[in-house]
Amino acid sequence: MSELLLKAEGIYKSYDDDNGGPPLEVLENVNLEVQKGTITSIVGSSGSGKSTLLHILGGLDKPNKGSVLWGDKDISLMNSDKLAEFRNKNIGFVFQFHHLLPEFTAIENIAMPALISGVPMKEASDRALDLMKRFSIADRRFHRPTQLSGGEQQRVSMARALMNSPELILADEPTGNLDDANTQIILDLLFELRDRDGVSVLLITHEKNIAERSDTILEIKNGTID
Ligand code: ADP
Ligand code: MG
Repeated sequence: MSELLLKAEGIYKSYDDDNGGPPLEVLENVNLEVQKGTITSIVGSSGSGKSTLLHILGGLDKPNKGSVLWGDKDISLMNSDKLAEFRNKNIGFVFQFHHLLPEFTAIENIAMPALISGVPMKEASDRALDLMKRFSIADRRFHRPTQLSGGEQQRVSMARALMNSPELILADEPTGNLDDANTQIILDLLFELRDRDGVSVLLITHEKNIAERSDTILEIKNGTID
């Protein structure tokens, strides 16, 4: 039986026009549900609002109207401190460009979410190393992001996203910048997370074969999902 993880209701988002023109309406009444332990692909043309929606679902941005419900908690109503804490515990983000901190090593980048939430250094490092072993990048642990290949950077990002064992991974075109071999590695890891760890994944993707493998495909069109 499927169990609900996340529910978005009546999401609207517009951006003001800096030149005084009418606001740009990006999302107009988006409704969706994410079930536990499933992979959902979000597809849609460039500029259709996929990243905007993902940011709102992950509490990185606020909707103009509507709610983002985790159980009975509406995260769109949380203040920024509460939201930061909520994200740190419950959501892992993976972006097209890795957003790793350049001055830290791979293992430090991975351990960071745990250190921020108050986990002691030794425990955080041990867990980070376990994740690196699982993703076959342990021998790169003291490399800085610029000393890693694109595929390795993205595996570090995935490990960082998993550091606090979140229930949901939000991935915005995580393979958009990778060659075929590395794309396959990252996708296999995402599917393994579902199958082995029961993690839910919400994935923005352009690749048809990925969308087809997922449990649910949602298409954003004209600001909404039918
Ligand atoms: P997608 O990820 O589907 O390509 P986005 O969600 O990034 O689309 O953007 C949707 C639309 O909103 C685009 O037309 C984009 O130009 C616009 N947009 C995104 N972010 C902003 C912003 N901060 N200010 C103004 N317009 C924005
Ligand atoms: Mg985008």
